[in-house]
Amino acid sequence: MKVGICEFRNIIVLTSAFYPWPKRSILKDPIVSESATPPPRMGEERVKEEALQLIGMFQLLPRLVVFDLDYTLWPFYCQRRSKRETPSLYPHAKGILYALKDKRINLAIASRSPTADTANTFLDKLSIKSMFVTKEIFFSCKNKTDHFRRIQSRTGIPFNSMLFFDDEDWNIEAASKMGVTSIYVDNGVNLRALRRGLTQFTENQNASDKNQRK
Ligand SMILES: [Mg+2]
Repeated sequence: MKVGICEFRNIIVLTSAFYPWPKRSILKDPIVSESATPPPRMGEERVKEEALQLIGMFQLLPRLVVFDLDYTLWPFYCQRRSKRETPSLYPHAKGILYALKDKRINLAIASRSPTADTANTFLDKLSIKSMFVTKEIFFSCKNKTDHFRRIQSRTGIPFNSMLFFDDEDWNIEAASKMGVTSIYVDNGVNLRALRRGLTQFTENQNASDKNQRK
């Protein structure tokens, strides 16, 4: 049977809808794993204030912070949701985004979601779509190296000036190899993850300065 382009597309869409991809990690890295206890519920303003204080403690800051979407900014796979639904973010996500913006740090998205239209609709409904300088939302069988190459070429920001949050080990590993400070989150992005990210970013910068002086 001959399969035309349209049929082929339908097969891909159907496969994406039912195949549980990307899978959430079941085994957590014991070193970087966070407590399963959900972060305390705070208002967005309070989170933003705390995030601003936290960011203010660091001298070396990333020029760009990149976020995954599913299970990093929001607690679901958007490919399994309808565009008509009303999405919600992890409790600390919005306050952190606003604080980073206030500090003039660029924001971007790197997502392997096969349903970019749903993701964009949700970003719009959450009133955060315009906060990102670039949104790389496309399915890839590989990790996110292509996403980061695009982000780098669109922004001109070097990989070592980026900080990245994601809930998938292999994405963390691949982005780290490119020179991006990459932080694994197992309970969505929150203030603790932000602190870890900024600390790790500073350590990586110091280590690279030290290597350059050798
Ligand atoms: Mg994810």
